Amino acid sequence: MGFDITSKEGISYYTIKSFDNVEDVAHLFSTRMGWNKKNTLENISKVFDVKLENIVVSNQVHGTNIAVVEDINFYKEKVYPNGVDGLMTDKTDIVLVTYYADCVPLFFLDPNKKVIGLAHGGWRGTVQNIGGKMINTMKEKYNSSIDDILVAIGPSIGPCCYEVGIDVYDEFKKRFKFYNEIFKFTSKNKWHLNLWDANKKILMESGVHEENISISNLCTSCNNDIFYSYRKEMGIKERMVAAIEMK
Ligand SMILES: [Zn+2]
Repeated sequence: MGFDITSKEGISYYTIKSFDNVEDVAHLFSTRMGWNKKNTLENISKVFDVKLENIVVSNQVHGTNIAVVEDINFYKEKVYPNGVDGLMTDKTDIVLVTYYADCVPLFFLDPNKKVIGLAHGGWRGTVQNIGGKMINTMKEKYNSSIDDILVAIGPSIGPCCYEVGIDVYDEFKKRFKFYNEIFKFTSKNKWHLNLWDANKKILMESGVHEENISISNLCTSCNNDIFYSYRKEMGIKERMVAAIEMK
């Protein structure tokens, strides 16, 4: 497994092994242990030892808008209102945060150019190639080399539990040659979709090296004692967060 769990003062969160080896990068994926809607940003502030105003959150609309955050106030006033499913920066002291309760968290890191990013990949974001768009943005904006980019696919609903209908199946079939490999037929017009593998394949099509992709293999629905799950808990309002900062 590419992820480790840490527990501190009643707060538990996951970190990515390949990111842990990189200096000056703080990051986490939260759990339901010690985390709820009210204390989420405070917890991040505590764990990262940053002020609340240095935290920048996404405004997720299942789209593929990626915000390059260089100025926190400009982002909050001008960019956030338009919907943001991907965040990126090379600035220090800006904590990027995205929200999840079954959708796929994608973490990006270029240790060479010191660029960090997060993206929200539900089936819509995945099929619209938000992973590939993040990679392109890193290359265009920060001159990242594809050989350096590390990506991690965090805890989210797994192929074991993620049942979808023909509408979702058709969207992937239209766009990706590999669609057959990510769906398992279950019953009439129902499939189980492997969003982990879909995102991995999409990232590899963008040139990311397989050995640079970590997958947690943790299903939020199966592990309901550790994570909140929108599907398992029928529309629960609680969320996990992905957070990352360049120190
Ligand atoms: Zn599962």
